[in-house]
Amino acid sequence: MSQNIQSVRGMNDILPGEAEFWELFEETVRSWLKSYGYRPIRMPIVEPTPLFKRAIGEVTDIVEKEMYSFVDSLNGEPLTLRPEGTAGCVRAVIQHNLIAQQPQRLYYMGQMFRHERPQKGRYRQFHQVGVESLGFSGPDIDAEQILMGARLWDDLGLEGIKLQLNTLGQPAERAKHRAELIAYFEKHAELLDEDAKRRLHSNPLRILDSKNPAMQEMIAGAPKLIDHLGAESLAHFEGVQQVLRDAGQPYEINPRLVRGLDYYNLTVFEWVTDRLGAQGTVCAGGRYDGLVEQLGGKPAPACGFAMGVERLIALIRESGGEPAAPGVDVYVVHQGAAASRLAPRVAEGLRDNGIDVLFHCGGGSFKSQMKKADASGAAFAVIIGDDEAAAGEVTLKTLRSEDGQPGQQKRVGVDNVADEIMNSLMDWEEA
Ligand code: ATP
Ligand code: MG
Repeated sequence: MSQNIQSVRGMNDILPGEAEFWELFEETVRSWLKSYGYRPIRMPIVEPTPLFKRAIGEVTDIVEKEMYSFVDSLNGEPLTLRPEGTAGCVRAVIQHNLIAQQPQRLYYMGQMFRHERPQKGRYRQFHQVGVESLGFSGPDIDAEQILMGARLWDDLGLEGIKLQLNTLGQPAERAKHRAELIAYFEKHAELLDEDAKRRLHSNPLRILDSKNPAMQEMIAGAPKLIDHLGAESLAHFEGVQQVLRDAGQPYEINPRLVRGLDYYNLTVFEWVTDRLGAQGTVCAGGRYDGLVEQLGGKPAPACGFAMGVERLIALIRESGGEPAAPGVDVYVVHQGAAASRLAPRVAEGLRDNGIDVLFHCGGGSFKSQMKKADASGAAFAVIIGDDEAAAGEVTLKTLRSEDGQPGQQKRVGVDNVADEIMNSLMDWEEA
């Protein structure tokens, strides 16, 4: 009769065992962002559809075919599940006048939605950590954001993530390049695939980003934007590179790095690994000086980047990184009427002292409860029978210990259990 309902294709549950990696990742990321003075901002997951059309550009993969857009049947509003965070972040900054007084360094993390073909490293619901700075125009902030990445990979214990860098210049410089590019592609029209033909006049820069093997050689010979850059754009690019060189941060200039979104100018960068197969870009970003004005704000320079959390977690797991062993310090075993009234109070008393406690629920024999205590990974069992309850004591049993002497047990007064446990835990840490 009833069929089980499954999760939406490309949208994954993150189960215990996996989720601990996510928590460790998020903790590391938060303290890393704090160390650079970035502050949290949280935007809605749903935004008005026109926001993304205006911010991202009509002729992009995202707006053309990846957005979850729908009309709210209750009031007719066109809405979209956010495919990325920058548009919403900039909308919020404008709406709340956040950069009127001073520039802002902001970050957010959370779900993004794109209707793509699900595969390794590519999902329909995925997560990004987004970092944006608004109101800074110099290459110093671009370089800061790039070097931040290097530090995070280090904090996460990740190696071999390489930096690619490029500049997109300014719109006027791009226009000249664009004309040359169209002429070049027209000359090679027989080599263009369907996507490229469609984009030839609307967004030829995106053809450079094509992954079609048959087009690679032709693309490699295409005119380069860098040959059209004026002094200011070149100086900005050089400014970024200077800081990177001073920091000893290796990078490769990739003239084909163009980014999927329309709103970028000047600096663009990606962090790429070869350990994840085709989906190797774990972080991408750059400058987007035109976006604030494009979305109706007073013109303000900006730059930012977004990391793909699924891809980074996959890398962490592949590199053998482990979160601290899950589990608790103490498992509370109890049986009998008096014991079962005392036990919850003992458990809360331990938690008052910062000890993590798994409280046995559901009854059962001492033997079966002790099995669960063993399996829980707890270092101690606190055992309470009616004997103990009557004496105002518990039996404290060591389940695992650093000194290799599990199995020890002793009676301890109810008021001393926390101290006993904390002393043992401290002794182990010292050992
Ligand atoms: P790609 O070329 O892989 O489609 P993109 O240019 O669309 O990437 P961005 O919009 O720059 O990606 O997003 C930043 C990062 O978010 C990517 O580098 C990647 O790590 C991650 N990301 C993007 N789309 C997905 C997805 N569908 N599933 C998982 N991670 C994603
Ligand atoms: Mg994409």
